[in-house]
Amino acid sequence: MAARKNATQPKLTDYQDRLRSAGLRSTSPRVAVLRELESATSPLSHADLVDALGEEGYDRVTIYRNLTDLTEAGLVVRADLGDHVWRFELKREEKSHQGTHPHFTCTDCGTVACLPSESVRLTSTKGAPKSVAARSVDIQLRGLCDRCG
Ligand SMILES: [Zn+2]
Ligand SMILES: [Zn+2]
Repeated sequence: MAARKNATQPKLTDYQDRLRSAGLRSTSPRVAVLRELESATSPLSHADLVDALGEEGYDRVTIYRNLTDLTEAGLVVRADLGDHVWRFELKREEKSHQGTHPHFTCTDCGTVACLPSESVRLTSTKGAPKSVAARSVDIQLRGLCDRCG
């Protein structure tokens, strides 16, 4: 937790602005959850966040409640990647118009990785529900990661 003083990290006021523009009050647990998700390179479960933020004095219930608030406000998205665990990540602007990005889950070690949205292209959506063509669906790939493969 020592490597946080990085000049490229968003400032506290950035998080406060984000919370306010989503209609939420800026509170320290909300800022802490946003900051943790911002620095993560893959989606985090509630348990991951409890591990990371517990030492700052935030308990499980507080973190859960604030995750729910942030998700309902549209700042955070959650996905069940097939193991019945909700994982949370910041809603980011996707570069293309292709909707949300796919996730890869290792079937052996359970590692989850975010993939670029262009990594999976749907060349035909014939006969599929409209939500598939609009890519308002979760795309999940399962297989072995480089370490387990
Ligand atoms: Zn693996
Ligand atoms: Zn992701």
